[in-house]
Amino acid sequence: MAQARPGDAPLIHDLIGIGFGPSNVAMAIALSEHNARVGRQEAVNAHFFEQQPRFGWHRGMLIDDATMQVSFLKDLVTLRNPASEYSFLCYLKSKGRLIDFINHKNLFPLRVEFHEYFEWAAEKVDDMVSYGHEVVGVTPVVRDGAVDYLDVTVRSGEGLAVHRARNLVIGTGLRPLMPEGVERTDRVWHNSELLAKVDGLEGTSPSRFIVVGAGQSAAENVAYLHRRFPHAEVCAVFSRYGYSPADDSSFANRIFDPAAVDEFFTAPENVKRQLIDYHGNTNYSVVDIDLIDDLYRQMYQEKVLGTERLRFLNVSRLTDVVESPDTVRATVKSLVTGEEMPLDADVVVFATGYSPADPLGLLGEVADRCLRDDEGRVSVERDYRLATDPGLRCGIYLQGGTEHTHGITSSLLSNTAIRVGEILDSVLDRGLKSASDEARPVVDGIGTAR
Ligand SMILES: Cc1cc2nc3c(=O)[nH]c(=O)nc-3n(C[C@H](O)[C@H](O)[C@H](O)COP(=O)(O)OP(=O)(O)OC[C@H]3O[C@@H](n4cnc5c(N)ncnc54)[C@H](O)[C@@H]3O)c2cc1C
Repeated sequence: MAQARPGDAPLIHDLIGIGFGPSNVAMAIALSEHNARVGRQEAVNAHFFEQQPRFGWHRGMLIDDATMQVSFLKDLVTLRNPASEYSFLCYLKSKGRLIDFINHKNLFPLRVEFHEYFEWAAEKVDDMVSYGHEVVGVTPVVRDGAVDYLDVTVRSGEGLAVHRARNLVIGTGLRPLMPEGVERTDRVWHNSELLAKVDGLEGTSPSRFIVVGAGQSAAENVAYLHRRFPHAEVCAVFSRYGYSPADDSSFANRIFDPAAVDEFFTAPENVKRQLIDYHGNTNYSVVDIDLIDDLYRQMYQEKVLGTERLRFLNVSRLTDVVESPDTVRATVKSLVTGEEMPLDADVVVFATGYSPADPLGLLGEVADRCLRDDEGRVSVERDYRLATDPGLRCGIYLQGGTEHTHGITSSLLSNTAIRVGEILDSVLDRGLKSASDEARPVVDGIGTAR
């Protein structure tokens, strides 16, 4: 792959995507479908950079029986283009499982199956991505006081390279969140690394796990560890009284509709906050009712049989973790009595959530040109474009990190197919050619300018 080195005049891309998770895979598909429809001169030349060595979607949580929290019809394309050849149904057909899936009468595939679908789709557009390439910085190209291009610095095994773009689409996803002051170690995990870490316990006989948290990931971790280690006790620690069910009822589910984004975007600030409060329980700190029922059934059965291995330390908080070579000692405080109890375990898993990657983190001095609202949050236009000072004429689009402007679907899959269509329309409407761009080379994929 021909690459420009720092100091060279880089090739110009209409669009560079940072990250190649589902959001930017969907973006690449939308671009690919657009380019197949139009002539060469109207084609958008785009490239994506992904730091992982190959496609991977939350691999650490691909628990074999975990299912999707979203209908398969909200795949990478269907809501935008139901006739797309990149749909989950086309994937099923290609695997010879379409009829079996239909007979299953199920809207929510296994997470491992959806991962395989994502991989299949990503492979179909893999001429547009460089894996093992981490974007480490973005700098403005200033000419006559205006910025028409951004230089994207990318680190790979081959060193650093710079790629020039007139539009960026940032889809860098979520970051695991640990409680303040708690470091990840061999015995202190975040649930995002569950499957990678658990294999390291093979051949040992752990006697106790502690899982902190009361959301879907926490409940899945409890069930998985209990099943995988039949001689270990699993203690769930959370401040709620019990797990709360996710509201996936039909009316509430409309908060994930494409139209809900329009309404949320235009709603006054207090109504936005109200909507998130009312409907946070469709997504945050809640658990699928079937999993809640399974865990309760299991706990009760063990009580009857006198073989209790599942313990629920509710209305409690884990206040301290101290690791020694053979064990980790946690302190669990009852929020009712204030009493503190030491609890030794082989491993403590923090299922304490995720936060969106800081969209401005990579932008360096470009971030100073991005506008913010009264609360210091980035201002984002309806088309997911960062609002910037007028001198910055290139587009910076966000996939994720827009919950305060676009609502609860910001970090979810529900609206991805529609969102990427809207971003593509915006890029096209604003025009690919800029004032300082008379000699725009036609570029097919990366590094093949002609
Ligand atoms: C366990 C789990 C299950 C989930 N299940 C569902 C579900 O069922 N339904 C639903 O709607 N949502 C679900 N979600 C929410 C989740 O956010 C979305 O499914 C999805 O991952 C969003 O895709 P994304 O591409 O925006 O982000 P990600 O999937 O996080 O992808 C971002 C990518 O960017 C890459 N990257 C980051 N920084 C850089 C950089 N500097 N340079 C290059 N590459 C970079 C990362 O390596 C990553 O591959 C789940 C989340 C988790 C954690």
